[in-house]
Amino acid sequence: MSIFNYLFDNEWSQRADIEDLKAQAARLSDRSTRNLRYENRIKELETDIGELALLSKALMRILLEKGICTGRELEDLIKTIDMEDGVEDGKVTKVPGKQNAQCPQCGRPVHGNRKACLYCGYVFSKSN
Ligand SMILES: [Zn+2]
Repeated sequence: MSIFNYLFDNEWSQRADIEDLKAQAARLSDRSTRNLRYENRIKELETDIGELALLSKALMRILLEKGICTGRELEDLIKTIDMEDGVEDGKVTKVPGKQNAQCPQCGRPVHGNRKACLYCGYVFSKSN
């Protein structure tokens, strides 16, 4: 602190410093709250991913162990489903702005070039 501030403007200067520090504290508090929300959201998503991985493993294992399909058939189906969003990236990607067609009977999304609805069995005509 300069002698000038001390002698003439000390109180005004201190008030300005206090206001600056309050504003800085408020910004840090906002950022901290936001970071906490992001951390909680990441934890929720990690839990969701863990549950989906568990479900996928169980389904794949039972399909293979019961001889319902072969590993090769499973791989082919995974590739087919992967390509339904138009991108081969090893995951189901929601393409922004691109809406899947919906089944006229049950309203669920229709994927790829299926001839019948995966969910309700409704057979699509060529115009669908
Ligand atoms: Zn349907």
